[in-house]
This record gives sequence, structure tokens and C-alpha cells, in this order.
Amino acid sequence: MIDLRSDTVTRPSQAMLAAMSAAEVGDDVWGDDPTVLKLQATLAERTGKEAGLFFPSGTQSNLAALMAHCARGDEYIVGQAAHTYKYEGGGAAVLGSIQPQPIENAADGSLPLEKIAAAIKPIDNHFARTKLLALENTIGGKVLPASYVDEATRLARARGLSAHLDGARAFNAAVASGRPIADICAPFDSVSICFSKGLGAPVGSVLVGPRALLDVAGRWRKVLGGGMRQAGLLAAACLHALDHHVEGLARDHENAERLAAGLAQIEPIKVLSQATNMVFAQIPETHCASLEAYLKERGILMQMLYASRFVTHRDVSRDDIDTVIQAVKGYFAR
Ligand SMILES: *Cc1c(COP(=O)(O)O)cnc(C)c1O
Repeated sequence: MIDLRSDTVTRPSQAMLAAMSAAEVGDDVWGDDPTVLKLQATLAERTGKEAGLFFPSGTQSNLAALMAHCARGDEYIVGQAAHTYKYEGGGAAVLGSIQPQPIENAADGSLPLEKIAAAIKPIDNHFARTKLLALENTIGGKVLPASYVDEATRLARARGLSAHLDGARAFNAAVASGRPIADICAPFDSVSICFSKGLGAPVGSVLVGPRALLDVAGRWRKVLGGGMRQAGLLAAACLHALDHHVEGLARDHENAERLAAGLAQIEPIKVLSQATNMVFAQIPETHCASLEAYLKERGILMQMLYASRFVTHRDVSRDDIDTVIQAVKGYFAR
């Protein structure tokens, strides 16, 4: 199947499986799994942070980070469209007793500075304590402008807030903008990075940041059920991805551009945006279900919605993109 539903669908390669089966392991709850320790140290070094902490998912990594930055009755500022706010089951509020203060994202994914400033509450018993600004990069595939990130995090710091990045796809941002991953992470205290997206590992996220903050996050990880034992098997896949899969993200971005250009030629599809490995397109509602079924019969998985998202990844080749474009053309030519 050619699966464009998400970049989470990648299968581990033979080389990745070999790295996993050769991994030296220990018990990571006891802190003695050498492969987990190596992954944490390697990513901390690459991102320019003091330490790293391995998690089973990005949702848990973000949540433990929010719980380390904010206590019960504190507040974090976040985008309406942000994963930590919209797509993580409300975990910050439900499990962390942290009040989200959502702000409408601008079209480029940023949170307008004046809205951030206005949302920060004075120290007063009426209000939750505003403790953290959380941004996401990439967001909807878009790379946040570096100058914006600098200004927003400087504003947060000037008002006594910390800054967290949901960097699930921070490597896509780095590759697309030609900047080192450490530059993308530098303005933030903590960053959560996913290995199960474009980097192609089956499982895993790493939170990087100051050791003292990660000590607190590590306790919450245990409380949240994320203490894993011979986790080196999984960390080995992530280390393999760091060594072998980062540069390939550029090819995913080219394929998304090719897909967007191809779809834009097809009446009545309207391509809304393309950035890094994501394409957003409008499919007339009357066609969504039948087009999706037509493509599935031809070995293509695409979720068709009025505003559809198609995602490229390392298991989709340039030829696959051409196959998809031809199939969609075929459907509308009937
Ligand atoms: C995928 C994703 C996460 C984490 O998701 P998990 O499925 O829990 O690993 C967090 N933020 C963004 C932006 C994501 O795309």
C-alpha cells in the first residue's frame, strides 16, 4: 500500500531491525539500560541541551514536560491548533491540573505576540499563575520563522515564563530551513522530539532540557506509566534513525511538493498549502468517500476530507507520488 495518511505509518527497515536486535539492554527504570542512556546523551548533545529522557510517546513526553514546568493551578499559553492542546485528550488539564490558555494560531502557525502578552495574568489570587509558553515546530507542516520564535520566547522570558517546544517534527524544521537542530531548539528550555514520525522508528520520543527539569519529568513519566524496562530495544531504533534517516527528510519534502503540484492540476481539487512533508487540500465533499474507496482499491490510503491532510514519509517514493497523482486523475476523468 502507498499510505499517505500520516508519517507515523513507516515500518522499521531491515537495518533498523538488525540494530534493535543487536542492542545492549538493561532496565531503564533502574537507569541502567546503556542504549537508552546513549540515545538520551546523543540527542541532548545534538540539540545543545543538558540532558534527555526517553518516552514511549510524544503525548507523554509533552505532558510530563508540562507537568514539570507547571504545578496544579498554573497555566500554560498554547495555540488553539497545537497538538498539546487539541490532540492530546486535554491531558494537561485532566491529568496535570494545568489550565490551558489557548490563543488562535495565525495562518503561519505562530501565536501573535500581542495576544501572548495580553494572556499573561498578573500575580493575583483571582488568576491561575501563567508559567509557560508552548510552541510547536513544525506546525501543520509549516516551519515557524526563526525571528518569530526568538521574539516570542524573549517575551515569555521577560515576563518570567519558561518556554517548551513540541518539536515532534523539529528535524523536519531543521532540514527544511537548512539550520542545525540545535538552532531550532536553542530558544526553548525543553523540547519534545518524536522518532515515530518521519524519522521512521516504531516507537519513541525524547524530551531534552535541563537535568533538574528532566528529573521532575522523570518522576511524572513513572507516575504516567511510562517507565519501561529493556527499552534499549526501542532506543536502538531511534539511534539508528538519528544516524541514517535525518537527511532523507529532504526527499519527503520534495515528494510533498511534487504531490501538491500534481494535485493542483486536477479539477476540482484545491491545494490549500504545502510545507515540509504535508499537503493540505480541499476535496469536494460529494467526492470524499468515493475517491477514498477508489484509491484504496488501487493500493493507496489517503484520508479524504473537505480539508484533507496528506503526509509523505520514507516509505513513499517519488514513483509512488506519480502513481497517486495518476490514480486521482483517473478518478476525476471517469
Ligand atoms: C505526533 C505528534 C505528537 C505526539 O504524538 P504521539 O502519537 O503521542 O507520539 C506531538 N505533537 C505533534 C505535533 C505530533 O504530530
